Amino acid sequence: MSVHAHSRTERLDLADATLREWDATVLASDAEAGIVLDRSAFYPGGGGQPPDHGVLLWGGVQTRIVDTRWGDDLYLIPADGDPVPPAGTAVRGAVEDERRSSLMRTHSGLHLLAGVIFRDFGALVTGGNMEPGVARMDFNLPDIPADFKDRIAAACAIEVAADRAIRVDNMPVEQAMAIPDIIRTATNLLPPDLQVVRIVDIVGLDVQADGGTHVASTKQIGGMDVVKVENKGKANRRLRIRLTD
Ligand SMILES: [Zn+2]
Repeated sequence: MSVHAHSRTERLDLADATLREWDATVLASDAEAGIVLDRSAFYPGGGGQPPDHGVLLWGGVQTRIVDTRWGDDLYLIPADGDPVPPAGTAVRGAVEDERRSSLMRTHSGLHLLAGVIFRDFGALVTGGNMEPGVARMDFNLPDIPADFKDRIAAACAIEVAADRAIRVDNMPVEQAMAIPDIIRTATNLLPPDLQVVRIVDIVGLDVQADGGTHVASTKQIGGMDVVKVENKGKANRRLRIRLTD
């Protein structure tokens, strides 16, 4: 089986984050349980990145997809009351571009932020969350200078302007674990039977084991503001970022 698969569904989103439309066949279908496709570019959520929205088109009918459920299969959840294509139907899938593209920029912005804070302050990520265009990330940072927020914002702007390549690679788990600081989230959450790890590399800045979708270079993140720095416990600082264009 391809490394880009969840059970019976080929994960087109992992092979190509720019893909927005594709052809597929319905393998299983239920208004409550959801729809299983043989091929899907819907990012199903995970690693802090929320699932895609979009539609399935079939015979002049539209099924809106509003969520995804992980289980024995990858289930696309239809909007309440929408018609559901029966098993065997050929469908055209489409991911809502505005939401996904914003999430790719936001997600990549969090990598850039984590890379800058590790490089300049040696601090590890302890948590995070994102919505399109806005995100927060927590760091183990007991002490910060008075100009911390401005320094981080300036350093992030420099890294965006530097237009560093963001590369995605699959590699054997042993090779991946040999990369220094590969698991920066401080806890090793990878399943023990994992054979291949997906590595996201902002070249020269940040390397992570990661399952999300990203833009191809840091300039594509665009304008990014550090909105706020909050105290979350003795050693934890929460940074809030926002895309500005
Ligand atoms: Zn990522």
